Amino acid sequence: MRGRLVAGNWKMHGSRATNPALLDAVLAGVAGLAGVECAVCVPFPYLSEASARLAGSKLALGAQTLSEFRSGAYTGEVSAAMLADFGCRFVLVGHSERRGLFGETDAQVAAKFAAAAKAGLTPVLCVGETLAEREGARTEQVVARQLDAVLDLSGAAALAGAVLAYEPVWAIGTGRTASPQQAQDVHAFLRARVAERDAGVAAKLRILYGGSVKPGNAAEIFAMKDVDGGLIGGASLVSEDFLAICKAAVSKG
Ligand code: PEP
Repeated sequence: MRGRLVAGNWKMHGSRATNPALLDAVLAGVAGLAGVECAVCVPFPYLSEASARLAGSKLALGAQTLSEFRSGAYTGEVSAAMLADFGCRFVLVGHSERRGLFGETDAQVAAKFAAAAKAGLTPVLCVGETLAEREGARTEQVVARQLDAVLDLSGAAALAGAVLAYEPVWAIGTGRTASPQQAQDVHAFLRARVAERDAGVAAKLRILYGGSVKPGNAAEIFAMKDVDGGLIGGASLVSEDFLAICKAAVSKG
């Protein structure tokens, strides 16, 4: 049985004034939760403070991106080792906003994934199609290309220490969610694609769904066979909503 995971992605939100209350409320809520792992991916400047607050708790810390380079003259970049240094366990890799707004290529995303894995972080590899790609019946082609870039560079074994997130671009921050069946179909496709290289890794791989998950729709999405939890944007900024989603992911078995 695969463990459930719910990860919040704060994106470029938060402040020193408001973070403590949000983190403390989430910390208090997850303390009593069993059967689901919870994490928050905060902006870089808040990692230090969040790391101290979350130390020894059941809420894991994550970052939203990282550099593919190890160290050196890369002004403005943050390395995997630095994230590990701050107690990060997870790091998002290839979020569609990084791909779409900042031009991250499949090759770059694959290099970032490799850098994260090498530093002992758990990369959360995000894949997903745009609306035009879905309407053009290219969903499988697109997510396969995004996944294969990582499999080709790092091998299927590297996915044993990773998490995959299916995030249809048209559902992120739009209020439009994939139907449970749409999510299940892509998750099953991704798992089968990994299984072509390593069936054992595929069976254990956690695949999260992300895209306008809210307390009202989380349970029906998480009930699908190949959905192992969620990557939560907007709703992770409201402690009650995030906790309700974490509760919806508690595994029954
Ligand atoms: C995300 O940021 O990865 C995301 C899924 O956002 P939202 O939940 O707001 O759609």
